[in-house]
Amino acid sequence: MKFGGSSVADADRMREAAALAAQSPRAPLVVLSATGGTTDALFEAGRRAERGDLPAALELHRSLMARHLGIARDLFPDGLPASLDQALAELGGELDLRLRGVAMLGELSPRSMDAIASIGERLSTRILAAHLGAAWVDARTVLRTDDGFGSARPRQEEIPALAGRHLAPLLGAGRTVVTQGYIGATAGGVTTTLGRGGSDFSAALFGAALGASDIQIWTDVEGVLTCDPRVVPGARPIAQLSFKEASELAAFGAKVLHPATIQPAMAAGIPVTVRSTRRPRGHFTTITAEARTHRSVTALAQRGPVTVLTINTGAGLDQDGFQAKAGLFQVFSRHHISIDLIATTGGSVSLTVDGAAPLEGLLRDLAGFGNVGVARGRAIVAVVGERLKRTPGISGHCFGALEAINVELISMGANETNLSFVVRQEDAGAALRALHAALFPNPPAKSAPRTKPAARLALAPMASGSWVRAASSS
Ligand code: ASP
Ligand code: MG
Repeated sequence: MKFGGSSVADADRMREAAALAAQSPRAPLVVLSATGGTTDALFEAGRRAERGDLPAALELHRSLMARHLGIARDLFPDGLPASLDQALAELGGELDLRLRGVAMLGELSPRSMDAIASIGERLSTRILAAHLGAAWVDARTVLRTDDGFGSARPRQEEIPALAGRHLAPLLGAGRTVVTQGYIGATAGGVTTTLGRGGSDFSAALFGAALGASDIQIWTDVEGVLTCDPRVVPGARPIAQLSFKEASELAAFGAKVLHPATIQPAMAAGIPVTVRSTRRPRGHFTTITAEARTHRSVTALAQRGPVTVLTINTGAGLDQDGFQAKAGLFQVFSRHHISIDLIATTGGSVSLTVDGAAPLEGLLRDLAGFGNVGVARGRAIVAVVGERLKRTPGISGHCFGALEAINVELISMGANETNLSFVVRQEDAGAALRALHAALFPNPPAKSAPRTKPAARLALAPMASGSWVRAASSS
């Protein structure tokens, strides 16, 4: 069970997280982030110290420690257990020393920064473990990495044995274990981090190493919906996503969980669920390596603004035309402009690039290939689903829905998980509503998926990009 920073941001949220862990049918491994905002504050303190502003760094230190002590006192109104008191004091002492060291040397190496950043997770886990009466394990004894400080790479072949030694015996004996996300250590024991937001990755690595039955990512939003609810009010939660679909949606701005970080879980065949601590009995989304449902369309998404470039080479589909196209793509790579969608016929190529891409030099070079048309202010509207390509009539269905909208370019994504349409940006909302009405016709089921009561704690899906923000602010 992984809880993100906002799920352990204060004493009440810690209580919620602890209650969820305590209700788990089997003793879980709890993987925590630092309390919300703490990692940012540690980075800021490190930078202040490096610049020689030790007083500012120490002030950040003071308020961080006060915040954590405040949470601990709230959870233990009759006084902190001695071991917790001591652990917090030691972490405070370590942070103080490290900041002074950075200030004295006027130098903040990635290695020092990792050591400083690790204190956030070490603080949050000490408090929650004490509150839960759970075992506390230092992730650095298990999550072995290389020495790429700041974004170290896990040594995946070494982690299972370490997990077997330090975690499995406790869990096997029915003890809940609390450990840190985001941090690890080299074989020599030097502290590393996996990079910002690395706790999901940690959870997937721990889960895979332990052969967990499932990996739960607890967050504060109620999941991935079929579309952005601000655009399509009838959007509904998605119960199950394949890894490919999740990746496809991430490419359209998913923020809550980056699919790449759960790759170790997918490789190990372990389902990842994304659930909301705010609405633990609500919906949730399960991500699995393969599609598990027979539905053809999973979600709708949009991205924009994009610019459509149409290059008319004048050449037909002969050898010359082929070479012209190959040369054309080289122009894009020379200008470091990546092509998104592409459609080609005979001697003409239409493609989309990011609306913010600088086009001046590119257009100059493209002029050598023929006529170039530039259409700005477009959006890509995508229908995402693993089974799209096996669903006869799906494109006709989509076209029918888009009857009233001018579609300027159509593309079946190379991984065959999306069917994309380019429309004017001002038409994107209407296009999404029309597609949603056609492809998700029934009113959303009101009740959450029911499972056995013991396993029915808290359930909410991964959210995607702006939908997430919409969901969390509502
Ligand atoms: N605490 C770390 C960060 O804020 C890791 C995480 O939250 O996943 O980046
Ligand atoms: Mg965080």
